[in-house]
Amino acid sequence: MPLELVTIACLKDNYAYLLHDTASGHTTVIDVPDAGPILTALASRNWHLDQILLTHHHADHIQGVPELVAATQAAVLGAKADQHRLPPLTRALVEGDTVKIGPETAQVLDVSGHTMGHIAFHLPTSGYAFTADSLMAGGCGRLFEGSPATMWASLGKLASLAPETFICSGHEYTASNLAFAATIEPGNSALTARIERVTLARAEGRATVPSRLSGELATNPFLRAGLLHIKLAVGLPDASDAEVFAEIRRRKDHF
Ligand code: ZN
Ligand code: FE
Repeated sequence: MPLELVTIACLKDNYAYLLHDTASGHTTVIDVPDAGPILTALASRNWHLDQILLTHHHADHIQGVPELVAATQAAVLGAKADQHRLPPLTRALVEGDTVKIGPETAQVLDVSGHTMGHIAFHLPTSGYAFTADSLMAGGCGRLFEGSPATMWASLGKLASLAPETFICSGHEYTASNLAFAATIEPGNSALTARIERVTLARAEGRATVPSRLSGELATNPFLRAGLLHIKLAVGLPDASDAEVFAEIRRRKDHF
């Protein structure tokens, strides 16, 4: 049985995620944009929060931590590289570390690019990856601190996970991400079909996350920069994969 996953909408377009193990009662949250909706989700299920995992230092992912810790006394884990700009950590993490989540073990990946020190949590048994603002549904985070080459390498780590992995990303940006994707690859039928599904989901007020990695590999232009037809589409047939990624990211910044 995979861990139970609860997607919690916070603020304007952020997501936090709860992971819960029924047998042990263990509960972990990934990112804390706002304590209120997380406390409500916990209370309605009668769950006690044990652990908070943080992906990166941006306020919209951490600002509810003090209130959530005060209410639950949960442990706080985040990147060692971000220790100076995160709330006080119970434990500082580097790539290759593991974190117990009930009976499961999460692997810590360095997915720097959006920020330097951004980490992701991969649970191979349940098949979840918590990617926040690195790999996103239909897109990737803006490059505030890292180079295109750094982000391309980070996305490569996530792209190599099992294709059925659920990508649990940090924002409801999917519709605009896919509208941009269609400017790069208008003839991609998997992309066209995904846009239809996402449009319907948003019209019904449903979240478009998590998304399957297989679907990202088929439709997310930021994972497809190494394909020859994408290089041709952006006019860079002889460029490196990272250079093509950089060009797609530059275009998205101005979309
Ligand atoms: Zn961010
Ligand atoms: Fe964010």
